[in-house]
Amino acid sequence: MSERTHIYIYTKHDEKSLEKKMILTEMFSKYGFTAVDDAQNSNIIISLGGDGAFLQAVRKTGFRQDCLYAGISTTGTLSMYCDFYFHEMETMIQAVLRSEIEIRRYPILQVIVDNNPPFYCLNEFSIRSNIIKTFVLDVVIDNLHFETFRGDGMIISTPTGSTAYNKSVNGAVVDPLLPCFQVSELASVNSNTYRSLGSSFILSGQRQLTLRLKQDGNDFPTMAMDNESLSIKHVESVNITLSDRLVKTVKLKNNSFWEKVKRTYL
Ligand code: NAP
Repeated sequence: MSERTHIYIYTKHDEKSLEKKMILTEMFSKYGFTAVDDAQNSNIIISLGGDGAFLQAVRKTGFRQDCLYAGISTTGTLSMYCDFYFHEMETMIQAVLRSEIEIRRYPILQVIVDNNPPFYCLNEFSIRSNIIKTFVLDVVIDNLHFETFRGDGMIISTPTGSTAYNKSVNGAVVDPLLPCFQVSELASVNSNTYRSLGSSFILSGQRQLTLRLKQDGNDFPTMAMDNESLSIKHVESVNITLSDRLVKTVKLKNNSFWEKVKRTYL
């Protein structure tokens, strides 16, 4: 950590955020860090905002493997990706310099839609019918046809994404030390004609999940990678695996994932 001195600060461009960015830049330079304007020249990437800003910071900087990411909260509360309060930054920098921090690694998804280049998700990949009609997906695990799903859509979440959209549909909260991903349904039709599992299920990181869309006219779904929508229109097949990339973040000791879950939800 001590050799990492080049910091890129990702934030919104409104006046208040830019003011905070300036304050932070000055504070870092006091301690020997250099703030850079181009993320490519950094080895620490900091987001200012909430979890949404952290997701964007990771995406816009290309899920860098050679950088450490840190989320700084400006919302007044700490959140799942934001471990540090803006007003306590000086304490955080001193802790960093005293090596009182640890590095944690978050699994991410690799998603390939038809023959397009892969993209990555830190929270989840979601796919939903684009019209007020159900759509049909064949769900294939490795080479096994597992089920045919009919309903609104599906959420494929990472362990850290398990507390986000996935949790709102009663998916399980998953420890990010487990390399795995979770599949949760959005309003499946279950009857004597249509049947899918109904509950969320968790796949090992060694597995491959394929979603094949029935080509019945409703094959132009809404798809999102975290908080960004995907502009691909017509889709036949989506291939999802756990990436061998990891997002590395800094954490203070005594601030585990489960402490964060407790702090946020209990
Ligand atoms: P948003 O719709 O403005 O906010 C969604 C909320 O989820 C925010 O409070 C956000 O925290 C929080 N959040 C984001 N990632 C989280 C995580 N890993 N664990 C717990 N909470 C998390 O969108 P956004 O802020 O850009 O976040 C995008 C995420 O929203 C998506 O990746 C998806 O997971 C989630 N989402 C949830 C639903 C739902 O629950 N029905 C629907 C669509 C999307 P901050 O306020 O700190 O940013």
